[in-house]
Amino acid sequence: MNNDETKSAGAHAVRALLKIVFSVLLAAAVHRAGAEVVVVRDAKPAAVIVTADHPSAVVHYAAQELVYHVERATGAKLTVVTESAAKSDARARIYLGDTSAARAAGIKAGTLAAESFVLRSQADVLFIAGNDGSGDPLERDTSAGTLFGVYEWLERDLGVRWLWPGELGTYVPKSRSISVRAIDATIAPRFFQRHLRTGLSFTSEHPALGFTAKAAEDYAKEQTVFLRRCRMGRSERMSYGHAFTDWWERYGKTHPEWFQLVNGKRGPAKSGARYSMCVSNPELHREIVARWKAKGASDFINVVENDILGLCECENCKAWDGPAPADAMKYYPPGSKVYGSRFVSDRYARFELAVQQLAAKENPNVTAIGYVYFNYFQAPTSGVKLNSHVLLGYCPSSGWYPRDDDEHAWYQRQWKGWGDTGARLFVRVNYFLDGYCMPYIFAHQFADDFQHDVRHGMVATDFDSLTGQWGTQGPNLYLLLRLHTRPDAKPDDLLAEYYSAFGPAAAPVKAYFDAWERYTMDNRPLLATAFADRIASRWRSWAKVAHRVFPTECFAQGETLLARAAEAAHGDRDATERVAFLQAGLAHAKLCSKVAGLLTLADPAATPERGAAALAELLAFRRANERKWIGNFNHNAWVEDLSWKLSKETKQAPDLYP
Ligand SMILES: [Zn+2]
Repeated sequence: MNNDETKSAGAHAVRALLKIVFSVLLAAAVHRAGAEVVVVRDAKPAAVIVTADHPSAVVHYAAQELVYHVERATGAKLTVVTESAAKSDARARIYLGDTSAARAAGIKAGTLAAESFVLRSQADVLFIAGNDGSGDPLERDTSAGTLFGVYEWLERDLGVRWLWPGELGTYVPKSRSISVRAIDATIAPRFFQRHLRTGLSFTSEHPALGFTAKAAEDYAKEQTVFLRRCRMGRSERMSYGHAFTDWWERYGKTHPEWFQLVNGKRGPAKSGARYSMCVSNPELHREIVARWKAKGASDFINVVENDILGLCECENCKAWDGPAPADAMKYYPPGSKVYGSRFVSDRYARFELAVQQLAAKENPNVTAIGYVYFNYFQAPTSGVKLNSHVLLGYCPSSGWYPRDDDEHAWYQRQWKGWGDTGARLFVRVNYFLDGYCMPYIFAHQFADDFQHDVRHGMVATDFDSLTGQWGTQGPNLYLLLRLHTRPDAKPDDLLAEYYSAFGPAAAPVKAYFDAWERYTMDNRPLLATAFADRIASRWRSWAKVAHRVFPTECFAQGETLLARAAEAAHGDRDATERVAFLQAGLAHAKLCSKVAGLLTLADPAATPERGAAALAELLAFRRANERKWIGNFNHNAWVEDLSWKLSKETKQAPDLYP
C-alpha cells in the first residue's frame, strides 16, 4: 500500500464514520422536532390541553377555541387541565401559554414581542405560547399571542377557515384523526395595527329597517369573535384623528394667527364652519408639542388636520408648497371638494416633520401621525424628506373601485411617492363603505392595491368600515381579512380557500362571484352616471341609485348560477346551507333594489305609499332572516335613511313594527 492509498483508505473510513454520526444526529433531530404528536385518533381524544395552574383570560379563551374547533373537525372533545393536575397524565400534550414546561423548553413567552407566539412540536408535545396581556381576549388592545397561535395552528393543521361570523361561516374540514405537523416557528403579525372599523354603531332614524335589538346584540358578539379569529388587533395603542376641531374655541381669540388665512381673514369662514390650521406657524408647532408633553409625551403625537382641505393662504404656508403636478385634478370630478383646490402636500409634509422633530427633543421615540388627504393626498413634489418617525394614513377622497387602469396606477403612485419620502404609511381608506348590500365585487382590484401597498412599506391598517354584507360581498371581505395574515399569497389561492368551503359547489360558486365581479368592473360608466349628478354618495346614500346600478333584471343570471350551485351541493349539508346563505343574500339585494326604485329620494315622484308594499316585503324578509348574518341590517338602515322617502311608521323599533 503506498502513501496515497493509505490516505485514501483513511479518508474513506472518516467519511463512513461521519455518515453514520450524521444519520444518528439527523434521526435525533427528527425525533426532537418532528415526532408526530397525535391529537385525535379515530375520533377519540389522544392528547390533552395543558395550561398553567392559573391561566390568563387569553389562555382560558384560547383553550375554549381550540376545543371547539377540534370537536367540530373530529367529534372528539379534548380536555383542558392545569400543569399540576396533568402530572400523571401520560397522553400527548398541547401546552397553551406561559407554562413551566414551555419555560423548561426555553420558550420565554413573556419576552416575545406583543401579539407574537411560538409554535413548536417535539416528542408528544405541541407548544403554543405567546405574549399575552391580562385583558379581555376579545379586546383589540389585549396582546393575545397564544390565542393567535391557536388560530394559526388550526389553519395550518386542520385547514380551518373563517368566512363570515357565526357557525355556518366557520369552515372546519371533517377528519377522524389529527396530528401535529413538525414545526418550530416564532410568528408575529405583519402589521402592528390590523383594523376594520366594526360598523356596529350604525344607527338610523328609521330603526324598523334594521336589526331587532337582540339580533343586533348577538350579531355584535359573533362579529367580534370572528374578527379576532381573523387576528384583528394591534400592538401599539396609538390614537389619531382630526386633531384641532376645538382649537378655534380655545385659541381663536388669543392666537388667530394659528388658523387658516382665507380671503384675508383668520379662522373659520363663518361661525361654526370647519377650518384648517396655519401649519407653517412655528408657534402652532410649539403649542401642539406643549399639549402633548403635558399629557405625558407618549410615543405618538397626533397632527392630523381637521376634516377639511388645507386652506391657509398666508405667504409662509404657500412658501412651503411644491409645484402642482400636471395631473393633480385628473381623477377628481368637477364639483368634488378637491377639484380646483391648491396642491398643498409639501406644506403638510413639512408641518408633520417640524412637529416630529420638536417633539423628539422630549421623547426621541415619538412618531408624528398625519393623514394624506384631500388636497394634500398626492405625493409631494419638492423633494421633501421625512423619516420613519412620521406615520401617514393614506386617505384618498375618491378612487372608489372599480377604477380604470390609469386611475388605479395613479393611486398606487401616490402611495409609493409618499413612501419614497421615508415616512411610514398605513391604509386609512373608506372603500369598504361602498356598495350597499349589492353583489358588488371588486376583490381582485382591491387585493392588487393591498399587495402593492405591502410591497411599499405598509405597516398598519384602518379600514372604514366593515358593513358586514357577508351574503353578497364575500370575496371582497374574505380577501380583506385574509390578506392581513397572508399578505403575500396569491389572491386566487386565497379565494380558492373561500370557495372550497362550498364543497362540491365550489366551482359554481366561483362562477357566480366571477360573474358579479365582471358585472361590477364592466359597469364603471353606469356607476359614474348614476352617482355623477351628486344626488347620491358612494358611502352614505347608495340606496338612492341601487336600482339603477343593479336593476331587477340583472339578478336573473346570479339566480341561475346559484341554482346550479345548489344542485351541485345536493347531498352535502354544509355546502347546501352555505349556498342557501348566498341565495338569501341575493334575494335580499334584489328586494332592496326593488324598494330603491320606488322610494328613492332622487325621484321627486316617489312617495312612501308607492313603495309601501315592497318595503313591507323587504322588512318581513329581514325579520325572517335576521339571524343568518347575511348582512349588518343596521348598516343597511343607515344608508336607506338618507336614500329613501320613508313614512313615520318605520321610526318604530323593529320589534314593534308590524
Ligand atoms: Zn399659513
